[in-house]
Amino acid sequence: MTTVAPGILFVEGPASNWTVFHGRGHVELVDCGYPADRPLVEESIAATGLGVSALSRIVVTHGHSDHLGAARDYSERSGVEVVAAPGELPNVRRELTEQVTVADLMPVALRRGTIPWAVSAIGDVGVPAAQAITADVLELSTGHRLEVLPTPGHTTGHACFFEPDAEVLITGDALVSGHALLDDEGELQQLPAFFHHDAAGAAASARRLSLCDARWVLPGHGPALRLSGG
Ligand SMILES: [Zn+2]
Repeated sequence: MTTVAPGILFVEGPASNWTVFHGRGHVELVDCGYPADRPLVEESIAATGLGVSALSRIVVTHGHSDHLGAARDYSERSGVEVVAAPGELPNVRRELTEQVTVADLMPVALRRGTIPWAVSAIGDVGVPAAQAITADVLELSTGHRLEVLPTPGHTTGHACFFEPDAEVLITGDALVSGHALLDDEGELQQLPAFFHHDAAGAAASARRLSLCDARWVLPGHGPALRLSGG
């Protein structure tokens, strides 16, 4: 866990990452790990000094199971709001699934010996009650702001989020700094093309993102990166 700015805690989870925003007695998350990461998510919330009852909203970069995590359960049992960019709602609600399958991954997984990871990528995690983010800037209950950056490609409605005061860029799977199926860790890069619903679109989004003026980049996979600029 890394505190990158006041009230912004980045968590590098076992396979995917999430960010805890906290302040004014509230907690909001960007992404939520895998469903099995729930105890770790709650541990990270506890690390802020607040309880899980302070969690009011989960903002997701996209509707993959390693980012939705236990969002469905938080939504249905605790009334936690779950939001995503409008174009991503069909994925988040699981009316549509733009995610690689075990069959797609098996040749790569066998080569790399990462079958457990491939299998854990699958699961029914859709959040039927998810709502669309309608504003260009999302005002968090914690006092932070998130500019919504549409970055289609990995999925149709993938979004990144930029916190302008802290200059923190959350990139989801548009740019990562490591992954079980990538060789280099610590460099901002794209996931392998077969992970993307639209590889050409993902490449264009990644190029646009690299122009973003950030002090910190918090990717969906791999460690947080502190940049000298910003
Ligand atoms: Zn993804």
